[in-house]
Amino acid sequence: MSTNFKAHDMAEQQIAELDKQLLRRKLRITESPCDIKASVGQRELKAFCSNDYLGLANHPKLVSAIAEGANLYGVGSGASHLISGHSIAHDLLEKKLATFESRYIPNARALFFSTGYLANMSAITSLTRLAEQGEASIYSAKLNHASLIDGVRLASAQTKAMVTLFDHQNLDSLENGLKQDTRPLKLIVLDGVFSMDGDIAPIEKLLHIAEQYDALLMVDDAHGFGVLGKQGHGILEQSQVHSERIIYIGTLGKAAGVSGAFICAAAPFIEWLIQKGRPYIYSTAAPPAIAHTLLTCLELIEGAEGARRRKQLSQLIEIWRDEMTFSIWKKTASSTPIQPVILGSNANALTVAKLLDEAGYWIPAIRPPTVPVGSSRLRITFSAKHSVDDLRELMKTLRIIEQKIEGAP
Ligand SMILES: *Cc1c(COP(=O)(O)O)cnc(C)c1O
Repeated sequence: MSTNFKAHDMAEQQIAELDKQLLRRKLRITESPCDIKASVGQRELKAFCSNDYLGLANHPKLVSAIAEGANLYGVGSGASHLISGHSIAHDLLEKKLATFESRYIPNARALFFSTGYLANMSAITSLTRLAEQGEASIYSAKLNHASLIDGVRLASAQTKAMVTLFDHQNLDSLENGLKQDTRPLKLIVLDGVFSMDGDIAPIEKLLHIAEQYDALLMVDDAHGFGVLGKQGHGILEQSQVHSERIIYIGTLGKAAGVSGAFICAAAPFIEWLIQKGRPYIYSTAAPPAIAHTLLTCLELIEGAEGARRRKQLSQLIEIWRDEMTFSIWKKTASSTPIQPVILGSNANALTVAKLLDEAGYWIPAIRPPTVPVGSSRLRITFSAKHSVDDLRELMKTLRIIEQKIEGAP
């Protein structure tokens, strides 16, 4: 259908082009709470695709806590944090979050955000503004999450910061860049656990490099918080590093099962973020009831229940690592609940995702630009609520589908 409305035609053409390249994305509507079984279009599917690693998103204690929070504080915060939206629930949460990371970041203070995307945009743009125009350098890992990439792009547009990309598996390019860099402010930015591959960044080595070249090290632990470390405090606990140079980002909508994110860093950086973090300043504070719910959530994460759930995850990861082999597809070496199966082309990924759907599984195909071209994949994720039998059944189904594809003409 053609109209005289140019933008409308352009939108339709662009979407048709995405369809042609097998890159069109589709929303699917769930009819049930986030859990290992999902009702989608009146069908029940076994879900191996959420980031609810600890299985807390539908935890009865958290469901009660959010109701209690709404009774205490109502449903909306009513304003941004700096106007009147910063409640005692937010303050208590920030104090508790700071204790999670204070063993690894001396003089730690935490700041709560309504999303990880906002936290990353705020942190990168405000930290680069510590330097004069053109005086900051950002070193960003090639496979970083889109929210880091967008934060880097915005920071470089605003402050003319120099941007260098590096390969997190091979830190030579990072060191080579830093060696020649005379700018007064250097910021290294990367995922703690890479979201589409599941591998863990080499934090000790990175910190060593940051110290040697006087850089800040910003780690986005969206997939490590709650999962890594004995108490679930994340990648810093797991690697037992210790430095005021670390800017830690944790998100609270994945393993924590609720919503939101936080930045934990040495106090002056947090104070600066409050002054200059535009996405923080100009956005309505998340409902205090969410902050209240998260207080209960943090107790679950660091307590015995969290430990039990992390143990279950480790068992699932171990079985997958030791027992799952493919003949035409590829696994990555991941010791986290993110376990990709690399299928190559978009067409392959869509075919396999469809066969999985027909077998009663929900594991969507992940395609560019989320992953590099030619590495379309299934991103399988485990939840502590999955049993060993659930996993073995999935493995059996995947083997059958792989054989079917291999045998096809
Ligand atoms: C999901 C994710 C984010 C964004 O967090 P939200 O709270 O969902 O906005 C940031 N970084 C990484 C690595 C992520 O995977």
